[in-house]
Amino acid sequence: MTIADELGRAIGADHVQALRGAAAAWLVSPGAPPEVAEIVRIGNRHRIALVPVGTGSRPTRSAADAPRVQVQTRRMDHIVHLDETSLLVHVQAGITGLALEKILVPRGLTIGDYPPSVLMSTIGGILAVRTPGKSSARHGFFEDAVCGVSAVLADGRTIHTRVAPRRSTGPDLARALCGSEGTLGFITGAVLRIHKKPEARFVAAYALPSIDAAVGAVYLALREEAAPSGVRIYDAAEADAHFTGSSVPPPRLADGEALVVAATAGPTDLATCDRDLIASAVTAMGGRAADARLAELWWKRIHAGEPTPAPGPVLQVTATPATLRAVYREIVEAARRTGARARAYISRFDADGAVVFFSFAGDASAEEVRAATETAAEEAGGWLLGARATKLDPYLDALRAELDPLGIMNPAGLA
Ligand SMILES: Cc1cc2nc3c(=O)[nH]c(=O)nc-3n(C[C@H](O)[C@H](O)[C@H](O)COP(=O)(O)OP(=O)(O)OC[C@H]3O[C@@H](n4cnc5c(N)ncnc54)[C@H](O)[C@@H]3O)c2cc1C
Repeated sequence: MTIADELGRAIGADHVQALRGAAAAWLVSPGAPPEVAEIVRIGNRHRIALVPVGTGSRPTRSAADAPRVQVQTRRMDHIVHLDETSLLVHVQAGITGLALEKILVPRGLTIGDYPPSVLMSTIGGILAVRTPGKSSARHGFFEDAVCGVSAVLADGRTIHTRVAPRRSTGPDLARALCGSEGTLGFITGAVLRIHKKPEARFVAAYALPSIDAAVGAVYLALREEAAPSGVRIYDAAEADAHFTGSSVPPPRLADGEALVVAATAGPTDLATCDRDLIASAVTAMGGRAADARLAELWWKRIHAGEPTPAPGPVLQVTATPATLRAVYREIVEAARRTGARARAYISRFDADGAVVFFSFAGDASAEEVRAATETAAEEAGGWLLGARATKLDPYLDALRAELDPLGIMNPAGLA
């Protein structure tokens, strides 16, 4: 029997599509976790690469000329169980965050304050790729919502990491699967913690004397345990670029000043308390209230489909609270030395850091600006977004070799 026949027998020929290319390759759509397990066993027998595909927002990195089976999860899009008392939902990996939210919201529930752009992805894809964008200051990183993961290992065995009731059960293996890009296991489902839809939401805008003061104010509030659902800092040039020509007059900041927009949500008392914590942190750092419509527009752009000025930023740098200011300063300065003008906003705040999003203008060549600013970012202690820390690779390699001795599980993943 050919591989195509075996795949067809496992999941139905209608769900197996041969892909054009130099090497034998198929796109398959299993309808349930046992079918994924069967596909993995076939891959194992034939030593053929298995590449999970969610919505496919990130094109597969496997070489186009390498034999492979691309296993897409889109048919596995069911809610297995919704427990409205425990606020837990058990979903299959192929459901998108938005589809899940559509079911939760009418019940007064929500996955949390994650940007809709994140929720367009499948839950499997979101968990398989851990990035700073998948976090909310209020609800933490997306993987913090994970109470358990089901996955198929390279030999076709299925594991479920959720052990309930919660007790001391050794290492949390779900953590290893999150961010493993399908190299340690094919995620077929997850149990996620969900939330009540917030009773109140407030937005506010503030002008701060400098980026340093703005960063100081945000971390002062976070250290006081404020839990905003979103915060963003714009430098003066970025605020101009974002609000000039919009329905709201731009904040008219002096050069060097910064705009902070913040949203808080939850039970009214808590949302008010978070808002007040941020306001007093702003005052402590020498800031003042600005036009709240700026914050309303910011929130609508992220969460209600209001168009955001294009083009988007070209450089994204993650930095810790301690290095954030230096990263911003050094990159602006490096761009200036090439003859470019940098502008930036800072977003995705959590206790561990934030991401600075830069755009550049001027006549300098884009390559020269990129080289200079990327070097400056690294020298100032920042991480270019997408750069993976490789320090733990020996541990990871040992895990991969143990779990997947034939190297069939998304071999190009985590490259
Ligand atoms: C290294 C990397 C960095 C990225 N950085 C960002 C970022 O900073 N911000 C951002 O918004 N987006 C980022 N993305 C895009 C990211 O792909 C999407 O944000 C989202 O996670 C993908 O969801 P998806 O459903 O489209 O999955 P896909 O794009 O189809 O798949 C993404 C990756 O996850 C694997 N995968 C998918 N489903 C499963 C599953 N069920 N089990 C195991 N593995 C699976 C795929 O093989 C692939 O490696 C990044 C992607 C990668 C690979």
